[in-house]
Amino acid sequence: MPRTKLQGVFVYCKCGNEMCGDGSFVSDDYDKFGNNHVIYKCKKCGLESDYNFDIAPVPISWKDIRNKDF
Ligand SMILES: [Zn+2]
Repeated sequence: MPRTKLQGVFVYCKCGNEMCGDGSFVSDDYDKFGNNHVIYKCKKCGLESDYNFDIAPVPISWKDIRNKDF
C-alpha cells in the first residue's frame, strides 16, 4: 500500500528532532493482528519509536496507545 498520505506528516522524537525529513524512517509493517507499526530511529539521539499511522490522521505512538488501554 503506497504511503502517499504520509506526505506532510511530521514525526517528532522526544529530543525534538523531526524524523520524517532526516531519514530516520526504518520500516512500515503490520503485525499478525493487522496493527500498523511504523518504526523510526532518531538520527540525532538514537531513540527508536513505534507509531501507528492508521487509527488517526496523525501518527500515534504505540507507547501512548498502550498507556490509554484501548
Ligand atoms: Zn531523538
